[in-house]
Formats: sequence, structure tokens, C-alpha cells
Amino acid sequence: MTIKIHRGTDQIGGCVTEYEYGGWHLFLDYGEQLPGVEPSEPVEVEGLTKGDLSKSALLITHYHGDHTGYIHLIPEAVPVYMGEVALKIQKEYSKHLSGVLAKQKKNFERLQKAKTFTPGKVFKFGDFSIIPVTVDHSAFDAYAFKIVAGEMSVFHTGDFRTHGFRGGKLPKVVDKYIGKVDYVVCEGTNVSRQDTCIMTESELQQQFIKQFKQHKGNVVYVSSTNIDRLFSVYQAALRAKRPFYVDAYQKRIMDIATKDPIWGKSELYQYGEYEPVELIYKSGKFEVNEKYKDFVSSQGYVLIARANVKYSELIEQIPGDKMRYLSMWEGYVDSDNPAYNERLVNALGEDYITLHTSGHCDMESLRFLFCQLSPRGIIPIHTNDPEKFEQTFRDEWNVIRLHDGQSVNLVTES
Ligand SMILES: [Zn+2]
Ligand SMILES: [Zn+2]
Repeated sequence: MTIKIHRGTDQIGGCVTEYEYGGWHLFLDYGEQLPGVEPSEPVEVEGLTKGDLSKSALLITHYHGDHTGYIHLIPEAVPVYMGEVALKIQKEYSKHLSGVLAKQKKNFERLQKAKTFTPGKVFKFGDFSIIPVTVDHSAFDAYAFKIVAGEMSVFHTGDFRTHGFRGGKLPKVVDKYIGKVDYVVCEGTNVSRQDTCIMTESELQQQFIKQFKQHKGNVVYVSSTNIDRLFSVYQAALRAKRPFYVDAYQKRIMDIATKDPIWGKSELYQYGEYEPVELIYKSGKFEVNEKYKDFVSSQGYVLIARANVKYSELIEQIPGDKMRYLSMWEGYVDSDNPAYNERLVNALGEDYITLHTSGHCDMESLRFLFCQLSPRGIIPIHTNDPEKFEQTFRDEWNVIRLHDGQSVNLVTES
């Protein structure tokens, strides 16, 4: 088997990885670079975007834009595979944005022909056998894959973490479905922030509960597709006895998780005594009547908001003090960061609280995973500091550093 990293050896967004065996090509992810990174162009890949496509497929680990953003450029001859619930969420997201972003409209159209796989079930593509396993990440229904061809097996981690509500299950999942592998292609997002202590999702939820009890008016800015965080904030609102408000689009996204016959069985994704309340949207704005004002004045509220005019008009009309929360990556509000989002900064104002934790793994958890998988080599991707990754793990493991466009031919142990 050969592994080629087309992009992602020294950057976080826009990774494209290729596995080749016996003339078959399995590609993983085809996304955009993170905002502000130059050049933010899609990468042309032989066998994926051009050339002979007859023995190629694209697997998507999860729906974040840095993994899916350019899938509309994948010719229809190439089958695209995604997790079933992830596909539903991605379609809803792309449809929602298709009026304002032409690219999302095209993505939505391309996704109509996407295929799905089942977690824990082997599926074949040409000479490849693939086992998808769910991982905990800030995108829902996210996957890592065991990819087997000939004598060789590789574990491709995708983006993942172990400090989420479901993260603790990873060792058992690896034990049951993966076992030991020859190589690991591993995400290394947090390698340059290894000294910072990562808060767990459940510790974060406790902080939300505390704040919601303390403040009547609560406005939370969070990604519309960060399902685990949304349900966590929702459960926190229930425990603090605050009504929880979302717009119709956000409710549809949450409904996808809660109505799924498998995921919906987990108490993490169930609605409690009070369901999220849909904001009334009429003639281009959210409706705020006297009854609503009286109700939120007495009961308080938790509102999931977006940084746009419609929301600022809504928030302005709600009486009383409000506490605002940033529950997203802080790069968006850092003026030195290329991802700086002025609209979000304005929506948050001067006085807000950041309540967020990373969607990516800490180094101790990576080390634990490597011990379990016991690979002969580890190839870091999805990191802006591959050198640090190498320094961190080279005493214990064979870290194979590639540059974009380079490949490594995996050979069986003699
Ligand atoms: Zn991600
Ligand atoms: Zn990513």
C-alpha cells in the first residue's frame, strides 16, 4: 500500500490523503483551508479531480468545512462516502446556506449522490476493506477508519478527542473493531498547545449550568452543527430551569440527532421535559410580542444566537440584562488571527464569557491510542507544527514526516 499526503502535512485545514493499492485509490477528505490561510484554493489531484477516476472513491471523516468544503468539485464518477447522520446534517447545513453561498448550493447538489456506511461494519472498495468507527469530535457522527489492503493495515484517525461525553469509549472501540495496525495517519491539531489543560465537555456543562442559574438572560454563540455542545447547553438550560430558544434551522439540526433510531437512544441526545422552543420568524424578522417579553422576563432564557442583524434586532428587544457566551474557538475573536470574525466580535460586545473546549485530542490521549494500536510508523497530518509532533513522539515511535505531495510505500516487516 502507498500513502500520499496531497495536503495537510504542515497545516490544519484542507487535508487530502490518498491510499493506493493494486491500482485502486481511496481518498480521505477534500476540504477547504481554514479561513485566512493562503492559498485557499482546492488542490488538483490525479485520480480524484482529474485523470482516470474509474478506480477511485472519496471517504469523508466528518462534515467540517476543512474536510468537505470542496466536495462539489469531485466528479460524479467518484463515489463519495459519509456517515448517514453526518450526511443528513451536512445536507441541512448546505441547504440552509445555499441561498447565500453558491458553493454550498453545489455541495448540496453533489451530496444527493453520496453513499453511506455503517459504523463497525466492514465495507469494500476495490482491493480495500474499510472499517469505520465513530469518534468523539465537535462534528457529529465523525469517523476514524481502519483501512486494510493486502498485508497492510492503517488507522486513519480523522479529527477526534477523548475529553468529550463519548470520548472515553475509544479504547473499547479500538479493542473491538481495530486491534493492532501497521501504521497510523494521525491528526495533530493540539500538538502546539500541549501545555494547556483541556477541560472536559462535562466540566464545561457544569459551568454553563452555574452561569444559567446566576443569569436570567443568556445568549450563546455556538456552531450550529456542534451537536454535542448544543445538547449540552440545552441540558444545562433544563437543569437551570431556563427555556431554551433556537431558530427553525437549528431545531431541524437538533431533531436529526434526536430522531435518529440509534443516536436518539443515547440520553445525550434526548429532549427532556421541555423541548427546545422554536423562535417565530415572520416577514424577515424574529417576532417578539408582549407575551414573549413577559414570559422571558419572569423565566429567563437561553438563546442560541448567530452573529447577524436579525439576531441583534431580536436580542435588543428582549428586556433585561443578558450575559453573552462565546462557545467557539477563540481564534474567531483574535484580531491577529486570519480567521478573525468582526461580526461575531460586534455581536458579543465587550462583556462576554468564553465557555469552550477543544474538539481535538491532547497528547496523553494520543500516546495512549498509539500504545493500543502499536504501529510501526505514525504519519502526522492536520497539524501546523509537524516538527513538534515528531519531537513529542519520536523517542517512542517511528514518526514519518512527509511534505505535501510526498508518498510513502508501506512495506511488510521482513
Ligand atoms: Zn473537525
Ligand atoms: Zn479538521
